[in-house]
This record gives sequence, structure tokens and C-alpha cells, in this order.
Amino acid sequence: MEKKEITVALVGNPNSGKTSLFNALTGLNHKVSNFPGTTVEKKTGSFKLSPEKNAHIIDLPGTYSLYPKSADELVTYEILRNKAETNYPDLVVFIADASNLKRNLLLFTQVADLKVPIVLALNMLDVAERRGIKYDIDKLQEKLKVPVISLNARKKEGIDKLKELLLNDDLRVTAEYFSLQNVNSQLLDDLSKVTDKRNKYAALQYAINASSLISEKAKRLNEIFKHYQFDLIGFQEEEVLTRYKIIDETVKYARLKNVSQLKASITSKVDKILTHRYYGISIFLVLLLLVFQAMFSWSEYPKDWLEYGLGAFTNYVENTLPAGVLNDLVVHGILAGLTGVLVFLPQIILLFLFIAILEDVGYMARVGFIMDRIMRPFGMNGKSIVPLIGGMACAVPSIMATRSIENKKERLITILVTPLMSCSARLPVYTLLIGMMLEDSAKFGPFNVHGLVLMLMYLIGFFAAILSAWVFKLFIKQKEKTYFILELPGYKVPVFSNLLITIYEKGSAFVFGAGKIIIAVSVILWVIASTGPQANISKIENKYEALLNGNTNDSVKKELQLKMNAEKLEASYAGEFGKLIEPAIRPLGFDWKIGIALLTSLAAREVFVGTMNTIYSVNDDGDNSFSHIKTKMMAEINPRTGKPSYNTATFLSLMIFYAFAMQCMSTIAIVKKETDHIKWPIIQFLYLTALAYGSSFLVFNLFS
Ligand code: GDP
Ligand code: MG
Repeated sequence: MEKKEITVALVGNPNSGKTSLFNALTGLNHKVSNFPGTTVEKKTGSFKLSPEKNAHIIDLPGTYSLYPKSADELVTYEILRNKAETNYPDLVVFIADASNLKRNLLLFTQVADLKVPIVLALNMLDVAERRGIKYDIDKLQEKLKVPVISLNARKKEGIDKLKELLLNDDLRVTAEYFSLQNVNSQLLDDLSKVTDKRNKYAALQYAINASSLISEKAKRLNEIFKHYQFDLIGFQEEEVLTRYKIIDETVKYARLKNVSQLKASITSKVDKILTHRYYGISIFLVLLLLVFQAMFSWSEYPKDWLEYGLGAFTNYVENTLPAGVLNDLVVHGILAGLTGVLVFLPQIILLFLFIAILEDVGYMARVGFIMDRIMRPFGMNGKSIVPLIGGMACAVPSIMATRSIENKKERLITILVTPLMSCSARLPVYTLLIGMMLEDSAKFGPFNVHGLVLMLMYLIGFFAAILSAWVFKLFIKQKEKTYFILELPGYKVPVFSNLLITIYEKGSAFVFGAGKIIIAVSVILWVIASTGPQANISKIENKYEALLNGNTNDSVKKELQLKMNAEKLEASYAGEFGKLIEPAIRPLGFDWKIGIALLTSLAAREVFVGTMNTIYSVNDDGDNSFSHIKTKMMAEINPRTGKPSYNTATFLSLMIFYAFAMQCMSTIAIVKKETDHIKWPIIQFLYLTALAYGSSFLVFNLFS
């Protein structure tokens, strides 16, 4: 006797067209409820398939895998796993987005392996065709060994064919794509007993998912896994790889050849090299080297022009504004601070430009792919590489970009370590310090040594980031697991106007975002550096007044003037603060002047350069240029040791400090926002400060 009703489940990835098909089939005749005890939506409806036969349809929420990421999603396919389920479908209609067939087939093969009768409905064929992708339905059917139909759920095309298929009992077939022959059969038996599922694959799959939950059952499942020393992650990886092997073959076989096919085959050849385990990484490193070399040499002229222009502007302002406090504040406070940072704009723009080009071309996605293998042991995944590389420009947007990482733990770790990547704000600091440490023309073979040291600093940042990730991985509890599915986009020529917009956005965010802080800090700094306890200041002024009056030689007078300024700075509030913290930073090779800069660059790192400029030009002749500051800093003698205040050990120690310390208020703010808890930025701040202090201490003592 034939059944009067058949139950059909619609299954597929999100946005593949399930609901459209559901609506096309059932019209208004449906109801929405939740799966018992969850917020997962369950939509059911029915329609007349033939005069004597009814069809009952369940529209299941879309997921990408049967190993879902949340406990809520776990219930989605329980219908298909459970033995005695009233809703158990007679047939699964799997809706696949044909424009993304490979990814869709992953879930398809997993569902099929639950041994439920299944048909594949290829949807979105119009979208696929627009991208030059076409499939031979017969060939797909031949390879997959289940019925395949084509569909346009939005336009309701192919629905009749589907209905015919639903009526034909002969077409209800099951298939197997992944066998469990490599899995210990006793383990499977034990799991089956505990889980009581429809078959062994269903039992294993359920057990893997449930093992991360907190329940009595989960405990027992974990004991079984432990007993057989079953490698959960390894198994899932092997499963995904095996499935993709079959999927790749199938798709290759069934895809119709045309011009874009040729393009695709070139793409896949290029991809083979770019995502190769060794070549891929070597190419990536060479590219980085070239980027940094270019960043360094191409920015030279624009930097000179900017410096010249800003210098002329400062002179103009100094001569135009009436002499006095305002003149002093603008020239020695604000302009000195701003000049120090603005001259680095060309380098920052170049870096943004290179990152934007690599992203646009489609290369960054490949980097994510090769990096997945490297990132995984460190508690991150391939998607972490985009925020990390973005961190070379600025941690703030990069931390926002971690939203694309679904796994909470991997996302949190990525957020915590992103500030270790050398951001553009460190560039001025490094450039200033490298410029003072090395001769301009220093070469190593064909390479500019400045560029090499700079690259080294970036690498140090990167390695510190992944090692720290590993440390955090040990302390942060894992609640979910993921594997990497990344669709590699086709290569394309970057759109020039998009690049311009990106650069403009990022560049102006830097100038205005950082500019505000720099102006504020410069003003405060100027105030505390040019004022101090009145009695002390007066004493110095009186002492020098007598000397100055008794001297007529201009150069001697100038000398005396500079000496007086230095003593006044030391006696100022800023000087007092610097001296207060000097004992704490002396082991790192820093004096009280650097102490002032450390204080001010808590707001933002690049303020270091502005601060140095301000400190070394307070009450000076208004020459804010880099070479002038450099000369003055290099000539500085530490009164305690009688040796130059700055030597190689100091520079290295300072660079390491800036490489690791979390000196950026905006980052702290964004981490609080993205993690939704003040705990994380605090932990991050303490960790990074300790790391910076320890490393600087080590470096200073190694090199001095
Ligand atoms: P679901 O998430 O699987 O339920 O997918 P929906 O049914 O909500 O469909 C997602 C989007 O794809 C909607 O905007 C549909 O209108 C659209 N869509 C569905 N089928 C097709 C199709 O065959 N071609 C095109 N171009 N769009 C479709
Ligand atoms: Mg839907």
C-alpha cells in the first residue's frame, strides 16, 4: 500500500535558495516554529503533489558543515541522525548554489553519508553562468550517483521536474562518498551505543559535535575518544580533504569547457605555485622584501619635499606671528610635533598602496590559504592573516576586520596579538632610530641596510605575534572548532579608483586621527616642558643672565643660550617627571628625556617622534628638520656616564620596546569594544608591557 504523504527536507548552505524553493512549493501553506528547546527556526509546510499524494516539506536552516559551530546549529540535522524521528524525511532535496559548487558539495556529501535518500538541486545557475561557469547535469549525476536537477528557485523554474522526481519512488537512492574504513570499528560501536543514532557515521559525527558540550553524555563520549586515542581534529581534516578530492574530480569532470575554463585552468596553475607549501611562502617573503625596499627608497624624495615645505611654513609662521607665548606654542609645540610625523606620510601611503594592490589582485586570499597551515598550531586560522597583515598599516581597522573569523577563540587570540604587528605608527619611530643608528648610505650587497633592518623589525613583530598567540592559546579555553574553507577569488586587475579611495581613507584617517592626538599631546608637552617650579627656573635664568650680559661674542652667547635651555628643560615639570621614572627605565638604557617620550607615546606611538622634536627644539631656533634633530640627539652626552646618551644598544632597546609595547589608546578602545569586556584590553596591555620591558632589558644588556 503506497504512503499518502511523503516528507521532504530542504538542506543546503545559507543563501542557496532553500526558502525561495520552500515558498515556491508551499505558498502560504506553512508554519514557523522552533526546534524544541532552541532558537533555531523550523519551517514546515505542505502541498498536494498529486491528487492522492501530499508532500510535507521541512526547510532546515542553512549551515556550511555537519560540524556546525554552535550548539544551536547542532540540532539542525538531528532529524537526519536520529533513529526514531517522526519527521525523518523520505527524501532530502539538497539545494546547491551552482556558482559556489565545490563548497556546497562538501555539505552535500556529508548529508548523503548519513544514508538518507538524496537528490541534488542545482540552483543559482544564472549566477554561475554570468561568471562563465556551466555544468553538464548528466555528468554530475553519473559521478555522484544520485539524481541531479537544475532549478531557478527565484523564477520558479524547474519546479515541475522536481515534483515529478518526488513522485517517483524508484529515484530515492542513497550514496556513499566517504567511508569509515580507517576508523577503529570498536570505537564506532561504542559511540553508537552511547549516542543511539541511525548509523555509524551519524554516531561519530554527533559524538564529535557533542564532545565539546558540557553534559554527562559528552563526558562519556570524551572518555571513549580518549580510550581509543582518537584524533578529533586529525579525523576532521582527513574527512574534509577526502571529500574535497572527490568533489574536485566531480566538478572537473562535469564542468563544461569554454574560454573562462581556460582562464580558470591558468588560475589554478598559478594557484598551485602561489599556494605551494614552500614556493608560496618564499614568494610571499620575497614580495614583502620588495615592498619594504620600495617603501624605503620611493619615499625619499616626497619626504624631502614635505620636510622642505613644512620647514618653510614653520619659518613663515614664526616670522609672521608676533613674538611671544602664542608664537612659541605654535612653532615649538604644535608645528614641531606635527612636522615630525607628517614627513612619514609618504611611507605610510606606500604601504597602504601595496597592501591594497595585493588585496585587490586576489593575492591576499592565497596568502591566507598558505598561512592556514602555519597559523593553526598557534591558535589562529588562515583568516587571521588578513587582520595581521592589515596590522602593518593600523591595528584599529584590523581588529575590526577579525569579525570575519567565526571561531570565538581564534578571533580573540587574533585580536590580542594584532597590536604586535608593526603598524604604520611605528614606522616613524623606527625610521628615526634607524636613521640615527646607521649611515644613510649603508649597503649590504645590493640592499639598503635601512630597509633590511626595517624588514627585520616587521618580522620580529610577526614572530612575536604568533608566539604570543601560542601562549594565549594555552590559557584561553576552546569551545568550538573550525576548519578552513576559503574560496579563492579569481585574479583581477586592481581598479585604480578603488586604490585611490583606499589610500585616501587610510591616509586621512592617519593624519586626522593621529594628528588630533599629536596636537593635543604636543601642546601639553610644550606646556610642561617650558614651565616648571618657578624658583628653580629663576635660578637658572639669573645665573645665565649674568653670564650672557658679560659676554659679547655671538657664538659664545649662542652656546650659553643652548646650555641654559637644556638646564631649563631639565628643571621643567616634564624633566621632573622623566627623572621620576628614570630609575625604572635606566636598566633599559633610557634616560629621563626618553622617559618623557615614553609617557607621551602612551597615547600613540608616533608621538615619540613629535615629542623628541619638541624636546630638542624647545626654545630653539625653530629648525625642526630631521637632520637637525638627529645632530642634536647624537651630540647629547649623558651627564651620569659621560658617554653619548644614544648608542647602538639604546637604539636597539628602544626599537624593541616600541615593537612590543601597547602604546595606542585607540587600540585599547577598539579591543574593549570588540571583545565586549574591559578584561581583555587590560590583560593585553599588561602582557605587552611586560614583554616590552623584558625584551628591552635583554637587548640593552646584550649589546652594551
Ligand atoms: P536560503 O538562505 O537558502 O533560504 O536562501 P533564500 O531562498 O533566502 O535565497 C537567497 C537569495 O537568493 C534570495 O535573494 C533569492 O531571491 C535568491 N535566489 C534564490 N534562487 C535563485 C536563483 O536561482 N537565481 C538567482 N539569481 N537568485 C536566486
Ligand atoms: Mg532560508
